Amino acid sequence: MQSHCFSRSRQPILNDMPRKPSHRCLTPRCRNDKAPRNNHCYACLKRQYRHRHKMRDAWQHLKDNSKRRGIFFDLTFEQFESFCVETEYLHKVGKSKMSYSVDRIIEEKGYTAGNLQALTLSDNSKKENERRRAKKTLIYDWTTRWATVTKSIITPLNESVI
Ligand SMILES: [Zn+2]
Repeated sequence: MQSHCFSRSRQPILNDMPRKPSHRCLTPRCRNDKAPRNNHCYACLKRQYRHRHKMRDAWQHLKDNSKRRGIFFDLTFEQFESFCVETEYLHKVGKSKMSYSVDRIIEEKGYTAGNLQALTLSDNSKKENERRRAKKTLIYDWTTRWATVTKSIITPLNESVI
């Protein structure tokens, strides 16, 4: 065909090479190799799985992050699921200040059942600021000229508890 001849003249080297079956992942712009017996690479398959199972993804995300941040995590998927259903967490999670985030009511307890509440991101950062301020109380004794840092008790934010 004439059109074929035209393309061959434009790209002579590519067209003369023998056609090999592609080992590349089928996702557009992904340059990884395919996983065995799959059309996509491991990274894309994982992304697809997480997109299909959003609740499990959110749970795994929380688990991974708490491990990275060194926070105690003892929450089964079923417990997290009931928390999500109660608070409609998945519908309101995001990056704006009114989006929900998972908050530990008592920070030291970590992510455990019964210690979770859904706070908006702005409320959560307010709580964190409050906590930091409470932590850094400096008491200066004029008679001995010693300054001591006291750790005051954290007061829970009652008004933002949902
Ligand atoms: Zn891929």
